[in-house]
Parts: sequence; structure tokens; C-alpha cells
Amino acid sequence: MKFYDAHNHLQDDRFAGRQNELLAACEKAGVARMVVNGACENDWPQVLALAREAKLALPSFGYHPWHLHERTPDWQRNLEKFLDVVPSAVGEIGLDRWKPDLSYTGQEEAFLAQLHIASKRNLPASLHCLQAWGRMGELLRNHPRPARGFVLHSFGGPAEMIPAFTKLGAYFSFPGYFLHERKLRQRETFQQVPPDRLLIETDAPDQLFPAEKTDFPLADAEGSPLNHPANLVAIYSGLAEFLGETVESLAARVEENFQRVFGEI
Ligand SMILES: [Zn+2]
Repeated sequence: MKFYDAHNHLQDDRFAGRQNELLAACEKAGVARMVVNGACENDWPQVLALAREAKLALPSFGYHPWHLHERTPDWQRNLEKFLDVVPSAVGEIGLDRWKPDLSYTGQEEAFLAQLHIASKRNLPASLHCLQAWGRMGELLRNHPRPARGFVLHSFGGPAEMIPAFTKLGAYFSFPGYFLHERKLRQRETFQQVPPDRLLIETDAPDQLFPAEKTDFPLADAEGSPLNHPANLVAIYSGLAEFLGETVESLAARVEENFQRVFGEI
């Protein structure tokens, strides 16, 4: 069986140079490919370096709404340069009205500029959305989107919006975080996702996987827990059990979906 991580941040500094060790654990566990999402101009070079070193890593370049205040006047040209080198994927981009003290000003403009770049190059885009689902739907409906589709990473939006997003070309990515007992509503939402639009992700090092379910405990230098990217396999098992299907059949369709949107590997 092969496992595909639709969204992580392997370049994150909190992994403190242990990337090779993490990649080796992932490979051993059966991870075939992972989309490594950049978040700002500062980490795009690290994402590119990882992709050059590890064939597991599919690089994705984008400005995350949490980092927009760091953008340089040349950020869009800079983004295009990375995509010229590796025409792979755009992300993580999006809208966030949830994070306390985060300014919303400029978020839509930056999101649309990056969506436009993804669309004109027909590259998959990975979208972050917190407490802005209605507006996200509107913007997607009214602007060009990548013909191959886009990913709603860690989809926590309302189930009622799934059909409309599906029509626009969305894939819905399930994070291990939703396997916490208390996240039942988010798990149930995934029962409404069309079988050919489901993806699975770790979002490592974020969105902690339930400690009792992990075989890969990990912490940063201060001892705070981190999500290990090899938790992916346990996320597949947990979701398969919840959806009442075998891991084999889930893995087979997620593989097809991953390859359809992110390209053959
Ligand atoms: Zn992310």
C-alpha cells in the first residue's frame, strides 16, 4: 500500500534539522509522496532544497495568510521564479478570519493573485480557510481556478457547501487532528465528500495527532509536542475505520485522487 500526504510543512524550523530522519521514517512506513507547503518567501528556498534532496517531497510555494506581513514588494515575481524552476504546486494560500490579531486587510488580494498564478499555469493550489467559507466560495466562483482542481486543506467548512465546492473543482483533505474524539462533527462532514474528491494529510508539524494513537512521538527543543509526518499511516487507518471501509480500498482511491490533482509521480 502507498500513502499520500496531501499537506505538510516538512521545512518547518521546529523540526530543527531532523528532516532526513523524518523522511526515512516516512519512507519506511510506506509514504509514497508528500506535498511540502511553503508559507512565505523565507521558507521557499528550504522547500525547494528538500524537494531536490528527497523524491518523496513535492514542493508547493505560496504565501500563507499568517505571513503576509512579511512579503517584499517583489513577492509575486519571486513566487513565479520558484514555479519556473519547479512547476509543481501553489500553496499554502488562503483566507483567515479566525486567528486573533491577524489583519484581514490584503488577504483577499494576495489570495486572488496566487490563485491567478495557479490558474494560468494550471497548477494545483492548496487552500487554507478559517471562518471565511462563504467569502471563499464567492471568490472561487467569481475567478478563474486551476482546471486540474484545488485542495481545501484540512477542510472544516460546513457540509452543506461540499456540493458547491465540488462543482468548482475542490478536493477535500482530511487531517489526523479530526481523529480526536471531540472532532466528531468534522469527521461526519467527511461522510458527505464525494469518493473521488477525498485526500488525507498530516499538516505536520501542526494539528497534533491524538497522542494515544501515535507510534511516532516527537517534540521540539522546548519539549512541546509536534506532529510527526509518519502519523499519516495511522490517519488512513482511523479514517477508514470511521468511514467503514478497508484501508486498502481507501488507500487505492486516495492514490487515484492524489495523482489526478497533483500529477502522476
Ligand atoms: Zn498548512
